[in-house]
Amino acid sequence: MKKNRIVLHFPPRLIDKPITYYLVKDYNLVFNILQAKIMPNEEGIMVLELNGSDKDYDKGIKFIREQGIKVQELTRDVKRNESKCTHCGVCVAICPTGALYTDQKTSKVIFDNAKCIGCELCVPACPPRAMEVKF
Ligand code: SF4
Ligand code: SF4
Repeated sequence: MKKNRIVLHFPPRLIDKPITYYLVKDYNLVFNILQAKIMPNEEGIMVLELNGSDKDYDKGIKFIREQGIKVQELTRDVKRNESKCTHCGVCVAICPTGALYTDQKTSKVIFDNAKCIGCELCVPACPPRAMEVKF
């Protein structure tokens, strides 16, 4: 059996495609949607926990990729280098889980590690590269 958290990146033309319906019907996979969000660049992001036999899981992932949807498996931790963060707020609009948010009192950007799913969307978006992937 395989159980993984994955991020699906949908190009705008595929946002309405009922991909999870096919994962259940054709590949016997069980899923739990952890987050779904349309990004500012109109890319759709869906964070899923996907569960099934090794064979079904691999076939299901292959099917998703064949549709033109990028699949990212969540296996690495993301941390913030506090000395580099300028609290510019760019990451707040990008983070799909609310792990990065602005404290209304101080106007500082807070990183809540407990809410972070390691999707890495903030990593290339952060101008001073304060968000870092830990291997
Ligand atoms: S984008 Fe980077 S520098 Fe800006 S608030 Fe987020 S972590 Fe800090
Ligand atoms: S990796 Fe970055 S964008 Fe993704 S959940 Fe964690 S803080 Fe948010």
